[in-house]
Amino acid sequence: MAGRIIDGKAVAAAVRERVRVDVAAYAEEAGRTPTLATVIVGEDPASEVYVKMKHKACGEAGMGSVHHGLEATTSQDQLLALVRGLNEDPEVDGILVQLPLPGHIDPDAIVAAIDPAKDVDGLTPTSAGLLAHGTPEMVPCTPAGVMELLAHEGVELEGAEAVVVGRSKLVGVPVARLLLGANATVTICHSRTRDLDATCARADVLVAAVGVPRLLGAAAVKPGATVIDVGVNRLEEGLVGDVDFEAAREVAGAITPVPGGVGPMTIAMLLVNTLRAARRRL
Ligand code: NAP
Repeated sequence: MAGRIIDGKAVAAAVRERVRVDVAAYAEEAGRTPTLATVIVGEDPASEVYVKMKHKACGEAGMGSVHHGLEATTSQDQLLALVRGLNEDPEVDGILVQLPLPGHIDPDAIVAAIDPAKDVDGLTPTSAGLLAHGTPEMVPCTPAGVMELLAHEGVELEGAEAVVVGRSKLVGVPVARLLLGANATVTICHSRTRDLDATCARADVLVAAVGVPRLLGAAAVKPGATVIDVGVNRLEEGLVGDVDFEAAREVAGAITPVPGGVGPMTIAMLLVNTLRAARRRL
């Protein structure tokens, strides 16, 4: 029997509705609305689309949002000055500098300048360190979305074998740390992993965050496993994940589609983080 399809759109909608209700309660208590500030440097069409979606989601949740669109020629010092200004601005609860940045700007230096209390992307060294220590404050949105999907699906993580393919700061490592925090036995695979399929096939929970279209097929999936596909690969035929959905679904117990799986969760968790940042400043 083919595995159940995990409907990320529906789970994200439920999270967003929960945030909307909580934002209204916050506004009543605080006399203001939580506010997200976004920054884009230069003209990257994909960044523009993502940031527009984030502002729309803020509006629908009853949150405020402000955008700073800077020229591609903006210097690193100018961008740092903007970030520091947003750190000090009492009306701003969350700061999101959309990556990638132009080549002359060091993204690590910019991200590190964000006040950890306003780090709604969860990417500052402080946020990453707190997560590594097992005392997370701001968790990166996509990994948080993966955990929310697993919780919503009622997947048992305690003692489960979890395999994460990918070890990026943005997805793979934080997902692995969160799974460890949930008492799964975690293996992280990467480009140097020997016999990827055999390692993945041990997993009760398989998370793919690679960026290689359909890298993982039926041979990488343990019968009945839960498969979470973070990958977003743009092919001529449309968006595909890192998992061969049709093949893997025949073996999996449950699986996320691409699109409509993890993707919608990322923005929902950004709203959760922004409200959380605002609450912590009350
Ligand atoms: P990344 O920084 O490029 O990292 C990719 C990881 O995959 C690396 O750790 C790399 O290993 C590993 N890898 C590459 N080829 C491999 C192979 N053949 N076998 C095993 N491992 C391999 O990418 P990312 O930022 O983590 O993103 C991963 C995917 O998730 C991308 O498709 C991205 O578009 C998608 N994504 C989606 C969302 C969303 O909201 N849905 C958000 C973020 C990212 P090494 O470390 O050894 O190089």
